[in-house]
Amino acid sequence: ESATEDGERPTYSVATDNNYVPFEFIDQETDELVGFDIDLINAIAEEAGFDIEIEQMEFSGIVSAIPSGRFDIGIAGMTITEERKENIDFSQPYYDAGLILAVLEGSEEEISSIDDVDGKTVATRVGSTSEAYLEENTDANIEAFPEITEAYQSVLTGRADAVLYDKPNVEYYAETEGGGELVTVGDLLQGEQYGIAFPKGSELRDEVDEAMDNLKESGEFDEIYNKWFGG
Ligand code: GLN
Repeated sequence: ESATEDGERPTYSVATDNNYVPFEFIDQETDELVGFDIDLINAIAEEAGFDIEIEQMEFSGIVSAIPSGRFDIGIAGMTITEERKENIDFSQPYYDAGLILAVLEGSEEEISSIDDVDGKTVATRVGSTSEAYLEENTDANIEAFPEITEAYQSVLTGRADAVLYDKPNVEYYAETEGGGELVTVGDLLQGEQYGIAFPKGSELRDEVDEAMDNLKESGEFDEIYNKWFGG
């Protein structure tokens, strides 16, 4: 947190990830960090009148770094959960997501829903709500990778039987790098909402919520949403 004199624009540190399409990822052509979350936090900063310094790290690192106060803000498609709320304060929800299972094209009959994964190898990401879901609700062999793209690759190369992850990320990856070979099966398993993360008791949270209200009212939020998700 940066102490500032009156009138000076504060700079806040923002922890994010760079492996989570289309929320935060490296644009292959420009080599720049882009995505829905990146546009959103920049718009919020501009609206609220502060500067940001973005640091990229592994998703599970963000979940543990925010409670420590090492960063002022965390934005990384982070699901608001009761467990995380014990150590993290969240903004108002800004995106409705949920978990979906995906398999290699051609295996949809073998694994047509989450009921078919017991005894199978299911890939996911370390420290995610999907990892927790698999642990709590299935007898699958869970293979959790630091980066979700490694989990998708493991299904595409036949090392894992399925992948469980957030629907918007699965769908975006399937359409792009997945080359149509990764197909979703079954229903949305668990509705989830994303929130921006703050250390407990952070005064910045209300400021960010207010800025987000303004962006929602002005239509700027919808513009950013449509840029990444169509509509
Ligand atoms: N929404 C999921 C979670 O919070 C995954 C987020 C991510 O990989 N960036 O666990």
